Amino acid sequence: MSEAITSAAALARVIEMAETLDSQTVAPAAACGLTLAEPIAADGDYPPFPRAMMDGFAVRVSDAGRTLPVAGLLPAGSAWEGELPAGRCLEILTGAPCPPGAEAVVPKEDVARHREQVTLPAEVRRGQNIAPAGSECSAGQVVLSPGDLVTPLAVGVLASFSRATVRAIPRPSLGIITTGAELAAAEGPLRPGQIRDSNGPMLAAMARAQGIEPRQTLYAADRLEAIRAALQAAADWDIVVLTGGVSVGMFDLVPQALAEYGAETIFHGVEQKPGKPLLFARRAPDTPGRRQLLFGLPGNPLACHLGFHRYISAAIGKLSGRPQAPQMRGELIHSLQMKGGRTRFVLGWAEFAADPAPRFRVRLLPGVSSADIFCGCQANCYVELPAEVSSLSTGDACAFTWIML
Ligand code: AMP
Ligand code: MG
Repeated sequence: MSEAITSAAALARVIEMAETLDSQTVAPAAACGLTLAEPIAADGDYPPFPRAMMDGFAVRVSDAGRTLPVAGLLPAGSAWEGELPAGRCLEILTGAPCPPGAEAVVPKEDVARHREQVTLPAEVRRGQNIAPAGSECSAGQVVLSPGDLVTPLAVGVLASFSRATVRAIPRPSLGIITTGAELAAAEGPLRPGQIRDSNGPMLAAMARAQGIEPRQTLYAADRLEAIRAALQAAADWDIVVLTGGVSVGMFDLVPQALAEYGAETIFHGVEQKPGKPLLFARRAPDTPGRRQLLFGLPGNPLACHLGFHRYISAAIGKLSGRPQAPQMRGELIHSLQMKGGRTRFVLGWAEFAADPAPRFRVRLLPGVSSADIFCGCQANCYVELPAEVSSLSTGDACAFTWIML
């Protein structure tokens, strides 16, 4: 292992090395969750016509207080030919276009109706219950910009503008390689010395929580050829997540396999707990194209979880053109003693409280080791405890990041 770097430096290196992917043309439905790569301008006025906002009667303001014959019925989806006839009104339903001459829509509840005649209230305001053409958005107006997240609302906007395609930054491809001779398949009895592979399913779930369906989860025993073969099979993934075999033990062969695969180590070892042996490498493609990012996460499940949460999520964000997840501030609700020396990331539960002042109250859920995902499995955040701090008191400020549940 090379000299360990701080967790802040490690995160900065990951973000620096991850290059935002080129945009692609996709259907709006497939773009949801992606970052937009072009401005979206209105293809016309919205609404496209003066739209009735209530069920009622389209009238002229000068007819206020009069009793008028109803000239016809105008439901949504239809259009009246010509002007509103003088001295008459039109029954109109929400969403229908107000014909020229109609200056207000008087709600149904505000008129007195006698068969084919209605008596209007004494006061009728010009423009009442009519959304003028272009009042929500005018032709050519830019409503979404490059860098914006395509949300379901944005999908609605794209549909309004009849967009069949949109330019957006795709999600990176990602796959997982689990290593370790002790790992047993999901079914069947465990032989002595075996454990279940929990990291593979956990990492796949973390990728899915970010909208990425993993390409594959491959398994390699603790043999150089096996890890190399898995890496070869993973050659076209943007992000390769390896777990296990990244430390300094006799069978920790991931660093060597990565070197033989042609990956350049950016760092190996981070001054953090859990997950000190974390390795980050990148590899130039055989043919010109995207650079591959490779993460060797420690096999200990909690260290593995933190490695994805903190570093791989940041890489995914940068590749996808998204801003990095913000760091939150909270207030501890209990005191704490710990060993200093390395930045610690501890699972916790943050809850908003309004009294006596608005803030997040944070409870830590420390486990017994870097393997322990059991004590903290109800957590909703990771609390970051600085290396130089060895005790914290109730009410002390702390930094945390949300876990994507
Ligand atoms: P390693 O990083 O390979 O030294 O493994 C550290 C610890 O994590 C060992 O106790 C392994 O058995 C355990 N471990 C490694 N891979 C996995 C995995 N995929 N699922 C659960 N535990 C694992
Ligand atoms: Mg191992």
